[in-house]
Amino acid sequence: MVEMNLNRRQFLKLSGAAAATLAIAELGFNEKQAYAKTKEFKIARTKITPTICCYCGVGCGILVHTKNNTVVYTEGDPDNPINEGKLCSKGTTIRQLYTSEKRLTKPLYRAPGSSKWVEKDWDWMMETIAKRTKAARDASFIEKENGVTVNKTERIASLGGAALDNEETYLLAKLMRGLGVVYLEHQARI
Ligand code: SF4
Repeated sequence: MVEMNLNRRQFLKLSGAAAATLAIAELGFNEKQAYAKTKEFKIARTKITPTICCYCGVGCGILVHTKNNTVVYTEGDPDNPINEGKLCSKGTTIRQLYTSEKRLTKPLYRAPGSSKWVEKDWDWMMETIAKRTKAARDASFIEKENGVTVNKTERIASLGGAALDNEETYLLAKLMRGLGVVYLEHQARI
C-alpha cells in the first residue's frame, strides 16, 4: 500500500478532480472522445503541410497546421513510415522553432576580431560568403601533388546537417567537389 501525505488544499483538489471524473463517467462521457474533439477544434480549418523534423538523422514526419500564415499546431505524421505519428520530446516542441522569441530572423555578422554581431541583409551575406570562399579556395588550391593531378583545397571543410534533404545534400556535395574540397562530412555519419 502506498502512503500519501496531503495537506487540506491538495486533498480538496484531489477529491474535486475525482468527483469530476466520476461525474463525467456517470454521465456516459467518453474522456478519450472528448479529448479528441478538443484537438479537432484547435486544428479546424487549418492548412496542413507535411514536413520532416530537422533535429536529427531519424527524419520523423511532421504535419504543420497553419492558419492566417501562422503555425498553430504541429504533430507527428501518422502516414509517415518512419515514425507513424509518434515524436520524441524534441520533435513534439518543434513549433517553438517558429514561435520562440529567441529565433533569429535576420542574418547576423561578426567581423574578424570583433565581439559584436551586426545585422546584414541576405544579399550582402551571400556575396561576402561567396567572395571569401573563392578567395580561400584560390589561395590554397593545389593542382598537383607528387606529380599526380589532385585539384584540391585543404583550407575549406564542409559539414552537412540532418536538416538537409537529399536534393540539398546532392547540390552541396556537387558544389564542394567542384571547389576541390576534400574534407566533406555529414552530421548523421559522425
Ligand atoms: S522527432 Fe525526435 S527522433 Fe524524430 S527526427 Fe525529430 S528529433 Fe529525431
